[in-house]
Amino acid sequence: MRLSRYFLPVLKETPAEAQIVSHRLMLRAGMIRQQAAGIYSWLPLGLRVLRRIEAIVHEEQQRVGHIPVLMPTLQPADLWRESGRYDAYGQEMLRIRDRHDRDLLYGPTNEEMITDIFRAHIGSYRDLPLTLYHIQWKFRDEIRPRFGVMRGREFLMKDGYNFDLDKYAAIHAYNRHMLSYLRTYERMGLTAIPMRAASGPIGGDDTHEFLVLASTGESEVFYDSAVTELRLGDRRIDHDDPAAVKAVCDEFTALYARTDETHDPELFAQLPEERRYHGRGIEVGQIFYFGTKYSEPMGATVTTPDGARVPVHMGSHGIGVSRLVGAIIEASHDERGIIWPEGVAPFHVGIVNVKQGDHGADSACEGILNALTARGLEPLYDDREERAGAKFATMDLIGLPWRITVGPRGLAKGQVELACRRTGEAEEMSPEAAVSRVAEAYGRA
Ligand code: ATP
Ligand code: MG
Repeated sequence: MRLSRYFLPVLKETPAEAQIVSHRLMLRAGMIRQQAAGIYSWLPLGLRVLRRIEAIVHEEQQRVGHIPVLMPTLQPADLWRESGRYDAYGQEMLRIRDRHDRDLLYGPTNEEMITDIFRAHIGSYRDLPLTLYHIQWKFRDEIRPRFGVMRGREFLMKDGYNFDLDKYAAIHAYNRHMLSYLRTYERMGLTAIPMRAASGPIGGDDTHEFLVLASTGESEVFYDSAVTELRLGDRRIDHDDPAAVKAVCDEFTALYARTDETHDPELFAQLPEERRYHGRGIEVGQIFYFGTKYSEPMGATVTTPDGARVPVHMGSHGIGVSRLVGAIIEASHDERGIIWPEGVAPFHVGIVNVKQGDHGADSACEGILNALTARGLEPLYDDREERAGAKFATMDLIGLPWRITVGPRGLAKGQVELACRRTGEAEEMSPEAAVSRVAEAYGRA
């Protein structure tokens, strides 16, 4: 992509309305525009990051056998009357009436609708286990939308729902979700700690939230610092083996890690003092097992092997896809701007031409652009008639992991500069070597 033909409305001034760094940087980097309180347009750069996050979520869901569907944003109120939540949900639910006086709502979550799909098509234990998920916009009329996309009213969520014959199988589905979530967050460069949580309007006893540590987080957290060292890495785990999956979950939940809602001061006090941490976190996901809470009132039943009919056991599992964009920035930035982890970067690498119009520099940049593209990478080439300083400032602000700088002085020696946004290290090398090094960083050597 050539920046001269792109739409990247960066702001020079720091927007006064933004209270936290991720919101400020998203506005300054031209990623989003607020259209109403808690409702945003996604501009091209922001949309690219959102799509990268979505792609990782899809891959990790499908890796463990979960099946994508797409349910609508608008739902009939009658479904929610069946579960009893239409009245119980309160003012966070946006209620709408159509021209025929039918009550609709903009879905804040989809337990009822997925249960309706299940009961319409499935009636036997032979069709279980089943996990369906979608990535769809939600609306919750939050009393205090703030912090940009972190607490929006309209926001993008991945929500998945498991259907199992009994509690044992449903707990395996719960654990499998935990495993897939751990891998999802790791691929985004995040440390998201599963913490025992309270259930709220979704219901159920077994529930964990995933929290990214950040001083601007809205949740108060208490944890054993050793929990921040745990990594899944690239170990292979058979996601159909309940014991193997449980072993991983046990490893990640054995150490003390709780939100203020479930915090137990006595237990916490037993930790060695130097490992006792108290801070704040951003909730980027939550998983629930709630048994037959929806299947029973809504009549979602299956026949068992011995011919009985029982309500199906369910759980629901959410990832805050749009919130993650902000959470990643909270976890990864410096005073100059965003530092995207490679897994979610909007462009893989920036090319800065320090002397636009110089024949040698222009043609070297074109060559690098083509070579990167041929390797399947997506570069952003700053080909504007701008001072070098302004180009560097833009690249630092939008946070691409790598930058290749091209100018007549280096080219005279056959060299360009490759710089890493995270470490700040820069090295001179041939254009070919720079392209290879970037390709290697993305596993496309
Ligand atoms: P919170 O406690 O932050 O209000 P929640 O517990 O009500 O969130 P869930 O029902 O668990 O939310 O939804 C799943 C995920 O969706 C959350 O973990 C969070 O990452 C995301 N999410 C929830 N509410 C919002 C919001 N208003 N804006 C952006 N993302 C949200
Ligand atoms: Mg939650």
